[in-house]
Amino acid sequence: RRASFGPNIFIESQWQPFKDAIDRHMDKTWSATPIINGQAINEYSADDQKQALESHTVRAPWNHDVIAGDVQYANADIAQQAIDAAVAGQQAWQEVPAAKRAEILRKIADLYEENYAEVMALCQIEAGKTTQDSIDEIKEAVDFCRFYADEAERLASQAHEFTDLSGKQVRQVYKARGTFVCISPWNFPFAIYSGQIVAALAAGNTVVAKPAEQTSLIAHFAVQLMYQAGVPASALQFVTGAGEVGAALTAADNLAGVVFTGSTQTAQRINQSLNDHAQASGELPVLIAETGGQNAMIIDSTALPEQVVQDAVLSAFGSAGQRCSACRILCIQEDIADNLIELLQGNMAELVVGNPTYVATDVGPVIDATAKKALDAHIERMQSEPTTNILAQAPMSAHSVVSEERSTFVLPTAIEVQSIDVIGGEHFGPILHVLRYQARDLDKLIDAINATGYGLTLGIHSRIESVAEHIERRTVVGNTYINRNQIGAIVNVQPFGGCGLSGTGPKAGGPHYVARLMRLTNEPLSA
Ligand code: GLU
Repeated sequence: RRASFGPNIFIESQWQPFKDAIDRHMDKTWSATPIINGQAINEYSADDQKQALESHTVRAPWNHDVIAGDVQYANADIAQQAIDAAVAGQQAWQEVPAAKRAEILRKIADLYEENYAEVMALCQIEAGKTTQDSIDEIKEAVDFCRFYADEAERLASQAHEFTDLSGKQVRQVYKARGTFVCISPWNFPFAIYSGQIVAALAAGNTVVAKPAEQTSLIAHFAVQLMYQAGVPASALQFVTGAGEVGAALTAADNLAGVVFTGSTQTAQRINQSLNDHAQASGELPVLIAETGGQNAMIIDSTALPEQVVQDAVLSAFGSAGQRCSACRILCIQEDIADNLIELLQGNMAELVVGNPTYVATDVGPVIDATAKKALDAHIERMQSEPTTNILAQAPMSAHSVVSEERSTFVLPTAIEVQSIDVIGGEHFGPILHVLRYQARDLDKLIDAINATGYGLTLGIHSRIESVAEHIERRTVVGNTYINRNQIGAIVNVQPFGGCGLSGTGPKAGGPHYVARLMRLTNEPLSA
């Protein structure tokens, strides 16, 4: 049975109007510039001269001849102007009542839904997302807006009162912290990008948002909708650019904190930069970082093979493996390994790999040439390892009219390994490592998984409850999923985030997230 990732909930006659609506945006080109206090910035001053910003052409990762548009990159000077503008806007935004902030967030959600066709076209063209992944981007972004709107109201109404021994009363209330820099990843260019920003805005903080440079057009479109919904221009500043611009933002003075999703190494650098900054200015800014994973799925001999394979294939190759939650290591009890590997090979042979604008496509491209090069190099290295074995590689789909040189596809690949160590860290793409284990060595396996230092998601497949519970108890991860796939956490259902090298917490889409972006203050109620 094929593990289709597509929107098979649609019947043709219902799907066609959606498809037509998306197609109307397919030939568009978009453009993004930094935005400070509502003004598009196209130039900067250097040596008393006006200079145009560095312009970058954005090409679809599945066909470089398709041009999505162009992005003007900010520089360190513009980054500083954006921070100054957000800091200046802080007082006014924190004085907006929580109910009003929530209303604006709910309006953003409505606008996201109304503009679904353009968002989907952008996700498909700029980020190479499949139809289902593009739909999921919108659903998750909308969920973030509505949930964090509720959170803003809940926290505003949640004042704890305390009485000291002399009868004096104190009330503890949540208040905004100040200006946050939000640095978001290209793998969830709409959902995580929006989630970070609206959470910070819900808390009454002003925001300087810097999206990953690969997906600036989607981010730019999202901020337009946020302004349209009523977010004041001074509360949200938009900064384009690559890592140097992010580094300039996180090195700025006057920050209340940084919300970051991306690699563990970058999070460590940001942490260092905030720490250095704290030594200069006194206050230690908050860092919320959601980083990588080396996620395993453990399958014992009682698991249902057909279900395991569907869940493993979706967890490993859905979104072309470009999720930090993705399954990277499939750990199969030796007794059923041969059978399960055979099913896996059969299932992978059926995957539709190619142009993500075809509705039947399961696996689209990886984001860019740098990502492709690193992933292909890993597959090559694994091929030359004496102890590893390539089990399966899904073929390129025949209907995909793409040239290999003018696109960035990595074929979904399953590789048998003898140990976790040989994998060498996180490989952010459609590569699944398969590891056999003996039932008596289960605890050793769990220790090896914990020893990676990451702790994001874990999949367990077993029909023995005590085995599943035993594994769950001993593993150190943020999100465990039993007898299902291990990706696609739902806002306010499966709050998402890990520990160790996988991030600081609190979990996105959970009850502590907006609270962390606020400070608790004690106010005396009586003299
Ligand atoms: N929240 C996503 C999921 O559960 C993953 C987020 C990420 O990759 O950063 O699959």
